[in-house]
Amino acid sequence: MPLDQPLQPAIGVHRSPPNILTGLRRGIVRTCPACGQGELFSGYLTVRPVCPTCGNDNEQYPSDDFAPYVTIFLVLHLMVPLLFFADRTWDMSVWFEAAFAIPIFLAATLALLPFAKGAVIGVAWAFGVTRNR
Ligand SMILES: [Zn+2]
Repeated sequence: MPLDQPLQPAIGVHRSPPNILTGLRRGIVRTCPACGQGELFSGYLTVRPVCPTCGNDNEQYPSDDFAPYVTIFLVLHLMVPLLFFADRTWDMSVWFEAAFAIPIFLAATLALLPFAKGAVIGVAWAFGVTRNR
């Protein structure tokens, strides 16, 4: 498709009015917040500039540093109780705990980040937060 032509929405695709729950749900499953059908990302964290299904400009919604903040908040609140439990249950050295905990923290952070970014974009869509252009 030539780049100078605007992407036309597919016939029959319904764009929803902005809603926080709709935006969160669609963002978490990494679909376009406007239609819920087009893929939001073209890679691990790369946002498709235009939804391939409805033509919504998804690049206008900022996620910037908030998605990593959300990810860190979730990972810490999920992992710290497990670390306390493991520390109280088994007698392990700090180095042994760190050898297990650090890779788990890293894997959980990398696994949750795209979902958190989708959720942040969905919330930005719901509240109409866009980049200043
Ligand atoms: Zn869409």
